[in-house]
Amino acid sequence: MPELPEVEVVRRGLDRHVVGRQVVAVDVLESRSLRRHLAGPADFVARVTGRTVTGARRRGKYLWLPLDSDDAVLAHLGMSGQMLVQRSDAPPDRHLRVLLTLSDGTQLRFCDQRMFGGLSLSDGGAELPAEISHIARDPLDPEFDEAAWTAALRRRRTGIKRALLDQTMVSGIGNIYADEALWHARLHYARPTETLRRPEATRLLAAARAVMLAALDEGGTSFDALYVDVNGQSGYFDRSLQVYGQVGEPCTRCGTPIRRDSFMNRSAFTCPRCQPRPRRARW
Ligand SMILES: [Zn+2]
Repeated sequence: MPELPEVEVVRRGLDRHVVGRQVVAVDVLESRSLRRHLAGPADFVARVTGRTVTGARRRGKYLWLPLDSDDAVLAHLGMSGQMLVQRSDAPPDRHLRVLLTLSDGTQLRFCDQRMFGGLSLSDGGAELPAEISHIARDPLDPEFDEAAWTAALRRRRTGIKRALLDQTMVSGIGNIYADEALWHARLHYARPTETLRRPEATRLLAAARAVMLAALDEGGTSFDALYVDVNGQSGYFDRSLQVYGQVGEPCTRCGTPIRRDSFMNRSAFTCPRCQPRPRRARW
């Protein structure tokens, strides 16, 4: 599953290679990839064809391409979605679902093996699609309101990792970056949010930002070429992971073996020494 830094890499690639181009043709090879566009594939094709892409924006893990009609193409990558910008003569990917031919002779290709992702046209959504307006800003967003987040956090009666994963409070922090940020901030995931002191909340947010920016730096080379790609399975961000997936490995700070707990049907990885379990815990 692509996390926020991977989606931001895609956004930057789209910004470089797609913005300013006109969509001269749209081909829908798999209508299920447009199932969120309730008016149907023909309507999508009619309203995107001939339009010029004026931007490449992101809210959490959603991307949107504002069009000169004031509508926007809204995209979610799901588990395995990819946005490839390729020359029209490049052989198509096996999982190619929707194809936008651009005025500069390239094509924006939406590929999706597992089909959890998709595209839709957001009516009047150029500034911010209504479909995603409930999603909170993410820590990399310049307009993220840290004071409001900290206040909301301390009002909650939940565990800190649950709060990090709650997309209505802060978006874009998935399982991997939640565990990494908590390790950097030396906080246990079951720490009750109402007991979090302001400096701890600030430290945690700074840690989340830092791990995301580090991942962005590592992924930075992939959007230099005429190729925009995201692949949740590929491990090119794995090198810098301190706890996620590192069960039994020594903590790089203190040498204690990293521990794995079951958490919300998934996992939580911690260093038992750097992140001791709180006496009062909220799972
Ligand atoms: Zn440690």
